[in-house]
Amino acid sequence: MSHDPLQTGQARYAWREIDRREPPKRKAEERITDFHEIYSLFDEAMIREQASRCVQCVSPACVTGCPLGNRIPEWIALAAEGRFLEAAEISRRTSSMPEICPRVCPQERLCEDACVIHSPEEPVCIGAIEKFINEYALASGNGHIATAPRNGLRVAVVGSGPGGLACADELSRMGYTVTVYESQLLPGGLLLFGIPAFKLDKAVVERRINILKQQGVEFKVGVTLGKDVSLSGLLENHQAVFLGIGALKPKALDVPGADLQGVIQGLPFLAQKNAPIALDLPPVDVNGRRVVVLGGGDSAMDCLRTAIRCGAAEVVCAYRRDLANMPGSRKEYANALEEGARFLFLTNPLAIEGNGDGNVTGVRCVRMELGEPDASGRRKPRPVAGSEFQIPADLVLVAYGFDPVPFPPGSDLARIAVNDWGATKVDQNQMTSVPGVFAGGDVVRGPSLVVHAVRDGRRAAAGIHRYLTELKPSPAPAQP
Ligand SMILES: Cc1cc2nc3c(=O)[nH]c(=O)nc-3n(C[C@H](O)[C@H](O)[C@H](O)COP(=O)(O)OP(=O)(O)OC[C@H]3O[C@@H](n4cnc5c(N)ncnc54)[C@H](O)[C@@H]3O)c2cc1C
Repeated sequence: MSHDPLQTGQARYAWREIDRREPPKRKAEERITDFHEIYSLFDEAMIREQASRCVQCVSPACVTGCPLGNRIPEWIALAAEGRFLEAAEISRRTSSMPEICPRVCPQERLCEDACVIHSPEEPVCIGAIEKFINEYALASGNGHIATAPRNGLRVAVVGSGPGGLACADELSRMGYTVTVYESQLLPGGLLLFGIPAFKLDKAVVERRINILKQQGVEFKVGVTLGKDVSLSGLLENHQAVFLGIGALKPKALDVPGADLQGVIQGLPFLAQKNAPIALDLPPVDVNGRRVVVLGGGDSAMDCLRTAIRCGAAEVVCAYRRDLANMPGSRKEYANALEEGARFLFLTNPLAIEGNGDGNVTGVRCVRMELGEPDASGRRKPRPVAGSEFQIPADLVLVAYGFDPVPFPPGSDLARIAVNDWGATKVDQNQMTSVPGVFAGGDVVRGPSLVVHAVRDGRRAAAGIHRYLTELKPSPAPAQP
């Protein structure tokens, strides 16, 4: 059957008649009482109608707008015809997480931003369609698990975030025997221990990991590279190694009072409140407390919304730039606002204030104004003289982003070249300076997106395959 929308009778100008719809979203009053996902799926009729808004561009900008180069118009055309299983089959050819990316991608900055009907109209709801077709296929038990005859070659994947999982997926589909080494007691990386369950249900991550297990991927959890195993030890038993160990060193809050009780890093807070297992972290009581979140990225949005769900009396975000320059997803910003978060833009902390017991009582701030663009192209904030004020607070969550964890000096990991801010250097095949050792995701890019880690993991798998089949190196020498 043809997929051509013109031949199938799909209206090419349907977008003029049919408005974009957002998938059903639970009311804010209801959703702040639990950690369940806030969006549900469209029904089949609505998916077909929304998919019919796609104009099937000859040079689809949405494909280039997607870091994975997802074949969006093809699966949208199939979805418009109600051929959901075929649509899902095409969608998973380019993505190792086609049910996870639509839940967490900032589509408004990627595929949907590139959609040609974005201007003058609203773009096609690409993310909602991708989620629907893949949930449909998963519910029908269709596809997703791909097994291939083993090729006798072994690869170690270190780190089980989206980068490591995508690399393991691709390699196992090619016949490699893959073992994933993960320092946490559950695999998933930030999908499990960072991104809150109201954005990404933990059962969805578990289901994806189970698919990999059924594909033959082995998981060894509670194993830390550089402590329990060495790089040379892995290279003795595997023909290649992929490092997907993320960038998990939180940036510090560098103001007086940052060591007061009640000032804590956002990521351990999120992990404690969202992880599906109890973690060995000091408990943080949020109930009835006034919470100030410092930062303006995805982690900050997640801290705000998690604090609200934990019963905070008041939740305020202080961010030094304005909304236009805030890195966090607009969709999640809107959700945070709906749920009761308050935003103070152009606001920078000068000091954390405390009482005689060493507990936080507030954040002394200064108003900012935007000056000239800095190296990143964003306008640099500068303080406004005489504009100091205080935000009362019992708990301050620091969400300033992350850096790669430095490789332990003296360990054999230290021979991997890094750039001046500690990110691992890779070539066009994602190979590091050490032959046979590849890397991708946040450890290479710094804090980024799930979809970028997936792309790197897939690209590294192709690089590993090329390295092991075309370059045919002799096995790495065992280290003493
Ligand atoms: C709070 C928060 C919210 C976010 N929200 C979004 C979002 O909504 N959308 C989006 O696209 N992105 C989001 N991101 C970013 C996204 O989660 C990351 O870009 C992505 O997870 C990076 O994937 P990764 O595989 O490189 O690393 P990670 O997901 O960080 O996984 C790295 C894994 O390696 C393990 N590890 C580290 N060192 C070792 C070692 N030595 N030995 C063994 N294992 C090791 C870690 O335990 C971890 O499991 C968010 C990030 C945070 C922190």
